[in-house]
Amino acid sequence: MKNITVIGSGTMGNGIAHVFAQNNYTVNLIDVNEVQLKKAIETISKNLDRQVAKSVIDENAKNATLANIQTFTDLKSACSNADLVIEAASENINIKLDIFKQIDEYAPAHCILASNTSSISITKIASVTKRPEQVIGMHFMNPVPVMKLVEIINGFKTAKSVSETISKLSKDIGKIPAEANDYAGFIANRILMPMINEAIICLQTGVGTVESIDTVMKLGMAHPMGPLQLADFIGLDVCLAIMNVLYEGLGQDKYAPSPLLVNMVTAGNLGVKTGEGFYVHTPGSKELVVSSRFQS
Ligand code: NAD
Repeated sequence: MKNITVIGSGTMGNGIAHVFAQNNYTVNLIDVNEVQLKKAIETISKNLDRQVAKSVIDENAKNATLANIQTFTDLKSACSNADLVIEAASENINIKLDIFKQIDEYAPAHCILASNTSSISITKIASVTKRPEQVIGMHFMNPVPVMKLVEIINGFKTAKSVSETISKLSKDIGKIPAEANDYAGFIANRILMPMINEAIICLQTGVGTVESIDTVMKLGMAHPMGPLQLADFIGLDVCLAIMNVLYEGLGQDKYAPSPLLVNMVTAGNLGVKTGEGFYVHTPGSKELVVSSRFQS
């Protein structure tokens, strides 16, 4: 494998491009939005500067990494020489199905098609292609250059050899793969999201305050941040979308999204991205301030 095409240059796409380019792969980074592509290269450059400042890499490695990335807005030319395509576009099933239909047409026959989806069925995505045995989930964690895990999701028809190739590739770029089968939420979000949802139910029913819930989980369970703070970072809209996938996919009441979560998303209090969720987020400030709505 030499040529990697990354589709979507948002939070995850730029991180995935960064990691492959830094490991000497040639990366074609594509987005429908040119402004976003420009922003992605700026973000990668800033993140590389941080690595230079920490002496993780030198200036030459930074320049070589940037030289390995080319940007595109046209899917066809970005995929024509790909050995692996990793789709990291918005978490919307229609967008993903449309992209996979197209890349199946444009990418060479040997090319593996991967999705970084957090929750959408790999089997469903694979079903719109003529190569379902070459479709796989490659679920990176945010921030990609820092987080070691790649959750590898085998769709119903994913070939074992494809899964092995992607596991090996993950190790080659310094990550640690863990395999999951294709059921709603895979492993990561099947376990994480119900925990976050339960924390929100605890808040909603008065079991604890925002501070007490997050403090118990941080100090008592050694989590690096509490579930409510983490929900703010992930985005409450994303948390709700994943809970809905679990509820629909697994059909059990225990996965029903908390009404408080639904209300907050409806009201537009989505966490860090909108400035307020369970906490108030002021750009540049690291202080944790609980939203006035949840102060006693
Ligand atoms: P994002 O909104 O930051 O970026 C998505 C990008 O996709 C945008 O730049 C958008 O312009 C682009 N896009 C939309 N339609 C496109 C198309 N047809 N062709 C090319 N580009 C297109 O989203 P994100 O947070 O980077 O998430 C991307 C994927 O990664 C989603 O599937 C998400 O579930 C998954 N994911 C996200 C996280 C996270 O913490 N943000 C973690 C793991 C996995």
